[in-house]
Amino acid sequence: MSTPSQQNIISHNLGFPRIGAQRELKFAQEAYWRGDIDAEQLEQTGVELRTRHWQQQANAGLDIVPVGDFSFYDQVLDMSCLLGAVPPRFQWHGKQVDIDTYFRMARGRAPSGEATAACEMTKWFDTNYHYLVPEFLPEQEFRLTSEKLFDEVREAQALGHKVKPVILGPLSWLWLGKSKTNFDTLSLLDKLIPVYQQILQRLLEQNVEWVQIDEPILALDLPAEWKAAFEASYFQLHTRGLKRLLATYFGPLRDNLNLACTLPVEGLHIDAVRAADEVDKIVDWLPSHKVLSVGIIDGRNIWRTDLNAALQKLDTLRQRFTGELWIAPSCSLLHVPVDLSQETALDAELTSWLSFATQKLDELVVLKRALTDGSDTQHNALQLSREAIRSRRESTRIHQPAVQARVAAINDDMARRQSGYAKRVAQQRAWLKLPLFPTTTIGSFPQTTEIRQTRRAFKNGDIDAQTYQQKMQNEIALVVKKQETLGLDVLVHGEPERNDMVEYFGEQLDGFAFTAYGWVQSYGSRCVKPPVIFGDVSRPKAMTVDWAQYAQSLTHKPMKGMLTGPVTILNWSFVRDDQSRANTCEQIALALRDEVTDLEAAGIGVIQIDEAALREGLPLRKNDWKTYLYWAVESFRLTASGVRDETQIHTHMCYSEFNDIIEAVAEMDADVITIETSRSDMELLEAFKDFVYPNEIGPGVYDIHSPNVPGEQQIIELMKKAAKHIPAERLWVNPDCGLKTRHWPEVEAALKNMVAAAHYLRDKRV
Ligand code: GLN
Ligand code: ZN
Repeated sequence: MSTPSQQNIISHNLGFPRIGAQRELKFAQEAYWRGDIDAEQLEQTGVELRTRHWQQQANAGLDIVPVGDFSFYDQVLDMSCLLGAVPPRFQWHGKQVDIDTYFRMARGRAPSGEATAACEMTKWFDTNYHYLVPEFLPEQEFRLTSEKLFDEVREAQALGHKVKPVILGPLSWLWLGKSKTNFDTLSLLDKLIPVYQQILQRLLEQNVEWVQIDEPILALDLPAEWKAAFEASYFQLHTRGLKRLLATYFGPLRDNLNLACTLPVEGLHIDAVRAADEVDKIVDWLPSHKVLSVGIIDGRNIWRTDLNAALQKLDTLRQRFTGELWIAPSCSLLHVPVDLSQETALDAELTSWLSFATQKLDELVVLKRALTDGSDTQHNALQLSREAIRSRRESTRIHQPAVQARVAAINDDMARRQSGYAKRVAQQRAWLKLPLFPTTTIGSFPQTTEIRQTRRAFKNGDIDAQTYQQKMQNEIALVVKKQETLGLDVLVHGEPERNDMVEYFGEQLDGFAFTAYGWVQSYGSRCVKPPVIFGDVSRPKAMTVDWAQYAQSLTHKPMKGMLTGPVTILNWSFVRDDQSRANTCEQIALALRDEVTDLEAAGIGVIQIDEAALREGLPLRKNDWKTYLYWAVESFRLTASGVRDETQIHTHMCYSEFNDIIEAVAEMDADVITIETSRSDMELLEAFKDFVYPNEIGPGVYDIHSPNVPGEQQIIELMKKAAKHIPAERLWVNPDCGLKTRHWPEVEAALKNMVAAAHYLRDKRV
C-alpha cells in the first residue's frame, strides 16, 4: 500500500503515435502526394493531429507533453532536415528544407518533377518502424535549416501546455546514418555539435525548461570511440538554464550503464520494462541531483499494465532514490496503436487485457496519483487492473493444457529430417525429375482489384462461401495455366485468397485476435495492423490444403504448397508477455507442422515455408543472437521436419544481409532456399565465399520491387555470377519475392525472360 509522498512525481511521455486514431495522417499524406490537397491543407491536418494529441495527453493528466514527436514522414528524416543534411542529388538550395524536398528525400519523387533515388530506409532498432537513413559526405556541413521544431514548441505553448521538445541525440543520429564513401562518420561530430548547441539555445529562448534528447544507441554494442564521444559531446551541449533528459530505451544498458549514469546531463530515462533488472543498479549509480525517469509502462506491446505490481516497484524505488523521480512509458508510444476504445468488435474480456497508447497514459496517471496522493485515491483503477490481470492469468481461453503438453513433449528428433540433405536430394530428384536450373516463383501472383473485391465481398457477407470458392478457384486455374504456358517447372497456386501472409494464418489459428483499428506506422504513410497473440496457439483444422490440392489437380507439374513460417508469424505480431517468445514460437511451429504433414498427405510434394522476418527478430546485442537464432531455427525445423525425405522443403527470405546469419540459415536445413539478390547484383552471394552453403539455392534474378522487366541476358549474367559461388546443380532460377504487387503484363514478360534464360543456361551447361 502506497502512502502519499512529499516528493513530487512527474508523469510525462516520450512520444505519441502521430498517425491519428483514424489514420488521418496517412490519408492526408497520400492526398498531398496525389495532388488532391495542397501544402496548406496538409499542414492543417498536422495542426489538428498535434492539437488533439497534446490535448488528449494533457486531459489524461500528464504533467509534461512531448513536442517534436509529430512528423510528416519520419522523425529521423526530420532531424536530418533540421541539421541541413540533405544529399546533393535532391538539388536543394533553399535556406529552409521545404515540404517537397522533404518528401522527395523520403520517396524519391516530388508531386511534380522527375524521379531521384530516395534515401535508404532501414528498421528502427528492433521495431517494425522504418526510418530514413541520414547520408553523409566527407565534406559534410551542418546548419539549422528547419523551423519545424521551434514552430511546434510555440504552437503547443500557445495552447497552454507544459512542453518537452524531443530530439534525436547527435550520437544516435550519426550512428544511424551512413557515408557513401565509407569514412568514419564519427569524425563529423565536431561539426555537428555546434548546430545542436544552436538548437538547445533556441529552445532555451523559447522558455523551454526540459528537452528530451534520445540516445537509443546506448542500448547497443558500441565501439570504444563512440562511447568516449558521449562524454565530451554532452559536456559541450551544456546550456545554462536548460535541462536535458537523456532518453535511452529498447533494452538494458549493460556495459553502457555507467556511462549513461555519469554523463553530464540533468536527467536519465531508462526502459524499466526491457531493462527491469538494471533499475536497482541505476538507482545506486545515478547521482541524486539528477532526475530519474522510469519507463514503467510497456511502450512496445499492447497488454494492460499490472498497476499494482508497478506501483509496488515504484514505491520501493522512491524509498531508495533520493533524487527527483519521473514516470513514463518505456519508449515512445509510436509502436502501439492509438486507442483501444475504438475496438468495439473485440469481446469485453479480451479488451480488459489490453491497453493502447491512450490507455497507457491513463495507467501512467493512475500510478502517479497513487504515488503522490496515496493508493486509496486510485482504488477503483487499481482494483480493475488487479481483476484484469487475474482473469488473464487464469483464463481457459489462454491456457490450453493440450498445447502445453505437446510443447513439453517436443524432442530433438522432431526437429530433424529423417536423413541428411545428400540422401534426401537423391530421393527428391528421383520423382521430381527437374531439369538443371529449375524455375519457380515465390508464391503470390498479381492481386488484381477483382481479387481484392472478391475477398472483401466474402468477408462482408455479400457473396456466399460457394461463390467465393468458385471465384478463387477460377483465379487459381488461370494462374496455373499461365505458369504452364510460360514453362515454369515448379508451380504455385498464386495465393489469391490471402490478404496478408501473417493475418491469413493468424485468422485460422486459435490464440490470435485481430483488431479493427490497431494500426501502427511502419514507414511514411504505410501502417500495419499486427495480430495479437493472446493465448496458446493451436490449429483447429487444415488451413491451406484444399487450395493447394485443387491447384495440384490442374497440372502434372509439381505444385508448391505455401506457408508462412513460425518465426515470421511471431515477429510480425504483438506477442504474449506472460511466456517467452521462444515458447510461443514453438506453439506456432507445432500448429504449422501439422499443416505441413497434411499437405504432404494430400499429395503436395514441395512445400515452401516463408521466413521473411527471421532476420529482423535478431536481438539488438550480439551476445543475445545465439539464443535467438537457436530457437528460431529449431522452430523452423520443427515445422519442416515431420515429412518424408522425398518431400522437398523450400524456404524464402527476402533480405540482403546474410553474412552474419548464414550459418543459422544453413542450420535450417531447407532443401531449397530462395533469397533476395537481384538488387544487390548478387553481391549478397559474397557470404557464400567463405561459407559453403550445403543445400540448393535460388538467388532472386528479378527485382519485384520495381516495374522494370529484366532482360534475358541480364538474368543469364546474374546466374553466371551465382554459379561462381554455388555449383550449377544446386541452383534455382526465380524472382526475389512474391509478385502480388506487380501487374500481369510485366510479370509475364519478366517470367518469359527468366524461363528463356534458364533454358539457355541448361543448354550451355554453365
Ligand atoms: N509467399 C509470399 C508471396 O509470394 C512471400 C512474401 C514475402 O516474402 N514477403 O507473396
Ligand atoms: Zn519475399
